[in-house]
Amino acid sequence: MDDAPPSPIPALPLPAIHASHGGCWLRSGAGQTRGVGKGDAIVAAADTPLLMLNAPLVATRLGYPDLSGLDLLELFAFIHPARFVVPTAKGLAHALDLPEPGGDDAIPLLLQQAAEALLATCERSDWQEREGAWSALQSLIRLRWAWAPLLTARIAAPQRAERWLFSRLPEWEDAPERPQPGQVVLDPAAVTARLAQLTGSGAEARPTQQAYAGEAAHLFSPRRREGLPHLLLAQAGTGIGKTLGYLAPASLWAQESGGTVWVSTYTKALQRQLRRESRRAWPSTRADGTQPVVVRKGRENYLCLLNLEDALQGGFTGRAAVLAQLVARWAGYSQDGDMIGGDLPGWLGTLFRQRGIAALTDRRGECVYAGCPHYRKCFIERSARASAQADLVIANHALVMVNAARSREAAQRPTRIVFDEGHHVFEAADSTFAAALTGAETIELRRWVIGPERGSKGRRRGLAARLADLASYDEAGAKAISAARHAAEALPGDGWLQRLAEGAPFGPLEELLAAVRATVYARDESGGQEAGYGLETEAAQLDGAFIERAGAAQAALAALRQPLIRLGGRLEALLAEPPDWLDGPGRARIEGARHSLTWRIDLLTAWEALLDRLGGPADPEYVDWLAVERGDAREFDIGIHRRWLDPMKPFASVVLEPAHGVMITSATLRDGNDWDAAIAKSGAKALALAPRLSSFDSPFDYAAQAEVLIVTDVPKGDVAALAGAYGRLIEASGGGALGLFTAIRRLRAVHGRIADRLARAGLPLYAQHVDPIDTGTLVDIFRDDPRASLLGTDALRDGVDVPGHSLRLVVMEQVPWPKPSILHRARRLAGGGSAYDDRIIRARLAQAFGRLIRSRDDRGHFVVLSSAFPSRLLSAFPAGTPVTRLTLDEALQRLTSGAFGKSVQTESNP
Ligand code: SF4
Repeated sequence: MDDAPPSPIPALPLPAIHASHGGCWLRSGAGQTRGVGKGDAIVAAADTPLLMLNAPLVATRLGYPDLSGLDLLELFAFIHPARFVVPTAKGLAHALDLPEPGGDDAIPLLLQQAAEALLATCERSDWQEREGAWSALQSLIRLRWAWAPLLTARIAAPQRAERWLFSRLPEWEDAPERPQPGQVVLDPAAVTARLAQLTGSGAEARPTQQAYAGEAAHLFSPRRREGLPHLLLAQAGTGIGKTLGYLAPASLWAQESGGTVWVSTYTKALQRQLRRESRRAWPSTRADGTQPVVVRKGRENYLCLLNLEDALQGGFTGRAAVLAQLVARWAGYSQDGDMIGGDLPGWLGTLFRQRGIAALTDRRGECVYAGCPHYRKCFIERSARASAQADLVIANHALVMVNAARSREAAQRPTRIVFDEGHHVFEAADSTFAAALTGAETIELRRWVIGPERGSKGRRRGLAARLADLASYDEAGAKAISAARHAAEALPGDGWLQRLAEGAPFGPLEELLAAVRATVYARDESGGQEAGYGLETEAAQLDGAFIERAGAAQAALAALRQPLIRLGGRLEALLAEPPDWLDGPGRARIEGARHSLTWRIDLLTAWEALLDRLGGPADPEYVDWLAVERGDAREFDIGIHRRWLDPMKPFASVVLEPAHGVMITSATLRDGNDWDAAIAKSGAKALALAPRLSSFDSPFDYAAQAEVLIVTDVPKGDVAALAGAYGRLIEASGGGALGLFTAIRRLRAVHGRIADRLARAGLPLYAQHVDPIDTGTLVDIFRDDPRASLLGTDALRDGVDVPGHSLRLVVMEQVPWPKPSILHRARRLAGGGSAYDDRIIRARLAQAFGRLIRSRDDRGHFVVLSSAFPSRLLSAFPAGTPVTRLTLDEALQRLTSGAFGKSVQTESNP
């Protein structure tokens, strides 16, 4: 097919394959590209290792899960660790300065050129990531990594021995505790001047942004009464520039008072934006080398160097060991060791089709602190220390809440907080203050106490090994550890799900979980309709046998809690009267152990309280239920759940009360013009606080920039019609569509019906829950290609920030009704019945609509496929946005003609 003259750009003469929904293309090493069927493609891949881009994705496209080959993404991760690339042919071409391929059939050539360009980098003297490559390659040769033979000839052995990763990483330094912040009142003129400085001299003055910054300044005023922070709720329409709006007073206050401001976000996209924008207010480092701005995440996000060392030394085998080597390459160049949403490519983990990344983080609270040989280089410790010295800490809602609840040091507790994306604070509080006594949670606790079960690899150790020195010094401590170890045997162990399925539970907790499972199935009303998804039932009207099992489980938990409390007491005694052998690092380790012990004791207390109430009258503060979690027709967890009916109550006492100033801001805080729900969701009522309320309209001209189309003739429940509508809408807009679903099942069904057809028209379609690509990367791919479309569920409803032409159509499959769960039913009852539902739906519509118009130049259509869209929901859309009810054909005409607004049936939107 391709007999064009050879390209002047060097290409690696190895065969290459590209597979999309539109077909497969194979290019020989000699330079001929031809279209092939899936069968031929699979045979070719089995014969010889082929160059390919994103092997799991190609495998999905070919329907051949065992596919392997020379994946360009793995090579990129080796050559340029910690460097960003959109993992598509176009993205690779941009990253390597190669010409963009003109179509699918040109991609195999691009792969050959990209492979040669990457390999040639190794021979260049200006290769920035050379250090460590040769040593890593020696390990990768032993692991038989497919790229290793090709790299061997290109990477010269270094003249001097390379520094081993752990010796290259810088050590953090101890710093004195910061004094408490000075009490200052910000001068409004100075706030305006700071804002002007941040926005730049060329920027036009934006009065709304100035007013917003002035409001934000109030949260920094001295607090007047203990336990009553300044609380500001600020509705800020999209486009007013709210990040610089609050960073202006925040940076001024930090400078004048010497204090720390926390800005909390819900999405990683906003964290990245904040990191970028904060550079206008702060340098990247201070004169003394410390950082004024620190991004802080939960410890489970960071690479644990001890876990990595273990993985490199045999803890990981096969493909996982290759992943560990690539992660080690990245660790040497990473800005902060953040593996989830930081500079580790989101796609790296999915290339290896297993949970290797999670195993390299510190998920299980097994950190041995100063007992760890890498303690002084540890990314987690470094970030925690840096944040105590920072002017600005960028964090997420969950971490702010967890830190407020149980930070090791007072200096790390946030007192001046801006919650951006504030409409998610309720949700974050809901999960932070939840309790779940499930198999997955209890087995974690068992492993934390006892250590891994026999036969499992890795460095993970139980309490006894972690505190061996205490045990040898203190007899009471040793006894407590041994008692805890013994009591933890009552918790579920490996294989518990299997035993439950076989009706052979072992121990009091497994017996309780078996009773939970049996009750949930006995009461199931779905008749198998919801196959593949979770089942739940109220924790009410439970029979005597169930209550008896709950009692036995409760006693077993108490029997574990008691020795843990005794052990905590021994650790405290050790800290109060330290023996000679307890040096500084040893003390830090004991403090760390004390801290994680407290956390486990609190967890056990919460579980016991949950079980304690099962037989008695329900506590109106909580909603309790039993659940079997299922996914893809497989059970993965079973247990009892507890949520606060109003999670803003604990939020108020844990976060608000100790704070001095808190701002909750978002484009979708209010319900229309109504503040009531926003106030209720701020925690203000629990402290009898009257929050300061302010609202700032978006500068966008929604009447001219957007239109809401309510398509009335796609029958509900007809998947073929739904898929047809999606396909035609995406074709009419030439891609650039974000499709939002409330059920994964329908998303998959629609994707399966239209992806091939769209691909043949040159319109790539990506989907969450279908493509083996993480959500962040899917959004990167979507942003990078104006002809691409993306289908997804909740996470995409407000986690997508794609200004410009790439997003010009949002399609919702139906009115986003809340899932009728037990928790929802209880809150609905307490929150005003259908009015409560309406508020939720309006908030969801407003968030989804918010994806469409991100800048003054954006234009787009927002389509809801709903034959009966209630008018009372229309206030979800910004005032002035034209809303039209019409047929699918009419909607398609409007899309093709690029028309907006002014239709005969346009409804007024107040
Ligand atoms: S200090 Fe803890 S988290 Fe850090 S590397 Fe060591 S064990 Fe891992």
